[in-house]
Amino acid sequence: MLQFKLVLLGDSSVGKSSIVHRFVKDSFDEFRESTIGAAFLSQTIKIEDKTNHNETVVKFEIWDTAGQERYKSLAPMYYRNANAALVVYDVTQQDSLAKAQGWVTELKTKVGEDDLVICLVGNKLDLCEGETTPKAVDSKQAQEYAQEQGLLFHEVSAKTGEGVKEMFQSIGEKLYES
Ligand code: GDP
Ligand code: MG
Repeated sequence: MLQFKLVLLGDSSVGKSSIVHRFVKDSFDEFRESTIGAAFLSQTIKIEDKTNHNETVVKFEIWDTAGQERYKSLAPMYYRNANAALVVYDVTQQDSLAKAQGWVTELKTKVGEDDLVICLVGNKLDLCEGETTPKAVDSKQAQEYAQEQGLLFHEVSAKTGEGVKEMFQSIGEKLYES
């Protein structure tokens, strides 16, 4: 079994905890209490090796951090030894993408780039499915930024679960390959 340490970063209320709960418990809570400090959860996935058809179990040790400014100084404790970072923004909040970009810059300056898989995650995709809430963050703009920076990019909904499993699977595969 392989183990990887994963950290979630991003502005508060973008849905970091909700993404983790969707992935670990396959549930969603409209009234989730905001995270204090950080929370720890773990989940395993299976990776299939295409060359020999062997399955490997990959265990994610997930650190879900609080996004509030007052906890910002704690973040390095969680990302320092991480194998992967999920930098989350809310697709309905343009300024949350700017915050996410700030985290990407911090990660790239403080952690060796080759040592860390970074995934840019646009959450709350469900809110843009109808006509009610226009998507504030253009997918193309976010995707181009991710490409420039060499990040994985996924749009998900913690509420409906759309894209969540696939995202963790692709992060697992990237970590497995490296
Ligand atoms: P965190 O501060 O980044 O951990 O964000 P939370 O997971 O606590 O979520 C903040 C709020 O956004 C909560 O009220 C959640 O119910 C809501 N939320 C989180 N993810 C989604 C989503 O995918 N869709 C919708 N509609 N709401 C979400
Ligand atoms: Mg939280």
